[in-house]
Amino acid sequence: MAPEKLHWKELYKQVVTSGLCTGCAACVIVCPHDVLDYDASEGRYKPFHLDIDGGAADCTHTSCTMCTRACPRFQSWETEIDTHRFGAERSDDQVFGHSIEVVLARTTDTQLAEVGQDGGFVSALLTYALENDIIDAALVSGFEGDGSGWQTKPMVVRNRAEVEATAGSRYTYCANTLAYAEAIEGGAERIALVGMGCQASAPGAMQARKAGKVARRLGLTIGLLCSKTFDDAIFEELFEAKYQVKREDIVKMNIKGVFQLWLRDGSYVEVPLKECHAWTREGCKACPDFAAEHADISCGGIGTFSDWTMTIVRTEQGANLLNAMKDAGLVEIKPGDEDPAGIELLRKLAKLSRKRWPETADPGPRRIPVTSA
Ligand SMILES: Cc1cc2nc3c(=O)[nH]c(=O)nc-3n(C[C@H](O)[C@H](O)[C@H](O)COP(=O)(O)OP(=O)(O)OC[C@H]3O[C@@H](n4cnc5c(N)ncnc54)[C@H](O)[C@@H]3O)c2cc1C
Ligand code: SF4
Ligand code: SF4
Repeated sequence: MAPEKLHWKELYKQVVTSGLCTGCAACVIVCPHDVLDYDASEGRYKPFHLDIDGGAADCTHTSCTMCTRACPRFQSWETEIDTHRFGAERSDDQVFGHSIEVVLARTTDTQLAEVGQDGGFVSALLTYALENDIIDAALVSGFEGDGSGWQTKPMVVRNRAEVEATAGSRYTYCANTLAYAEAIEGGAERIALVGMGCQASAPGAMQARKAGKVARRLGLTIGLLCSKTFDDAIFEELFEAKYQVKREDIVKMNIKGVFQLWLRDGSYVEVPLKECHAWTREGCKACPDFAAEHADISCGGIGTFSDWTMTIVRTEQGANLLNAMKDAGLVEIKPGDEDPAGIELLRKLAKLSRKRWPETADPGPRRIPVTSA
C-alpha cells in the first residue's frame, strides 16, 4: 500500500515519537523541501522538523509524502520492501530474510585483510565496485578528526585509499545515509550504501514506494549484521571508569560474545556484554532486523571462523558481484554449510531481534518460526 497522503505529521506520530525510529536518516535525505534535519548530539540520533514550516510535529508541505515513503519503519515497511525487492513477502521460516545463499568470504588482498574487521569482504567489494565502474561512490562510516577519539562520521568514499581509511567496525551509531548530499555534490549518480539493517532497508523502502531520484541513485546496498549500537558515553562511563581504558588508547574493537578492546600498548581487554547493555542506543531497542534483510549482500562476523565474513547473498546483483570478484581472484569463498554452528547462531540472533518489535506495530517483522532455534 503506497502511503499516498501520509506526510511528516504521520511519520512524527507513528515512528519518530513512538519508539520505532532507528535514526537511519532516510527521511532527512529524501526531503525535497529541506525542512528536516538530524540531531546526533548526546546520543539522540533522531530526525527533526525545522521550526519555520510547521514546527516539530507538523509540516506545511501537506501534499509531499517523501519522508513516509523513505522510512524503513513506517507501517507495513517489511512486507512492502520484501515484495518489491524479492517478489514475495518473507515466510516465517526466512527469519534472517530472503537469501540466495550464505557463504563465508574473505579478501585475498593483504592490505584490505589487514584493515578489515572480519574478512575484509566489504572493503574488497567496495574497492572492486569503484575500480570497475559499477558505482561512483559509497556512503560509509569514517571518523571525526584523526580517528583516535572513535567518533564516527558519515563519509563518502570514491577510491581504494578512502575505502581503506574507513574499513573496520565502530559500535556507536553512524547514519551513513547522511553522506548522500556530499556524494551528489561530488557528481555521483550510482551510489552504494553500507549500513546496518536500519539503514540497509532505506533504499528498498524508497524504491518500493517510488521516492524519486534518491531511490534510483542508491542502487547497491551492503548490509552489516547488527544487534545493537551503543551510546558514545560508553567510552568514558564504562571503558574508562571501570577498566581504565581511554578511548584514544584503543586501536581495534570487536564484539564476539564479549566487547573486545585491543590497546595501543599491545594489551587486550574484554568487557562482558551484560555490562554494556545500559549504554544500548535508544533507537536499537525495538529493532527487529539483525541480518540487514533488505541489502543486496549482508555481512557479519559471527561464526566459527574468525577473519572470514559471513556473507548472505540476497539479490541477483549481489550474486553477480560476488561471482565477478571470485573470478577475478579477489575473494576466497567457502560454503556457509561448513559452519553449521554459525548459521544456527545467525538464525538464533535474527529470531531474538524480531521479538523486540512491538506487538502493537505491524505484525510482519515479529513473525518467526514456531519450532526452530
Ligand atoms: C554497529 C555495528 C554492529 C555490528 N554488529 C554485528 C553483530 O552483532 N554480529 C555480526 O556478526 N556482525 C556485526 N557487525 C558486522 C561486522 O562488525 C563487520 O562489519 C562485518 O562482518 C563485515 O566485516 P568486513 O571485514 O567484511 O568489513 P570491512 O571491510 O571492515 O568494512 C566494514 C564497513 O563498515 C562500515 N562501518 C564501520 N562502522 C560502522 C558504523 N558504526 N556504522 C555504519 N557503518 C560502519 C565501514 O565504513 C566499512 O565500510 C556489526 C557492524 C557494525 C558497524
Ligand atoms: S526510522 Fe529513519 S526514516 Fe524513519 S523516521 Fe526515523 S530516521 Fe526517519
Ligand atoms: S540494532 Fe543495529 S540495525 Fe537495528 S536500529 Fe540499532 S543500529 Fe540499526
